[in-house]
Amino acid sequence: MTQESRRGAGGEPQDDCLFCKIVAGHIPATLVRESDTTVAFRDINPQAPTHILVIPKVHHPDAASLAAAEPAIAADVLREAGEVAAEEKLESYRIVFNTGSGAGQTVFHAHAHLLGGRGMQWPPG
Ligand code: 5GP
Repeated sequence: MTQESRRGAGGEPQDDCLFCKIVAGHIPATLVRESDTTVAFRDINPQAPTHILVIPKVHHPDAASLAAAEPAIAADVLREAGEVAAEEKLESYRIVFNTGSGAGQTVFHAHAHLLGGRGMQWPPG
């Protein structure tokens, strides 16, 4: 089964999910902020001077699935992204939810990319 074919999985930790392993502390990450429901950590392959991932601790395969199943936690992800942006003193920034492999999603555990510290183009590539 491919990661993307598990899109229906929701809620419970997944043994083969990279971000579930980061939440559990089984894979190291540079944490910048944590709440009861979310973790924020620096992206291993940053695409901007500030590139931080904000994820729910619960496993849902993408942002829309998270919002449908647990809207309060989806709101927590957004609020935490804003708090991190403030802590990082970003005057402007972009929050991105890649959804589906065609849009560049490679890790099928919902996550917000917080990108800042450089100029951004529109439309995105
Ligand atoms: P996606 O492509 O699914 O939207 O975003 C996944 C992100 O996770 C990518 O930006 C990628 O660089 C990041 N990533 C992949 N593996 C790791 C890892 O082991 N640690 C951290 N901190 N980030 C990772």
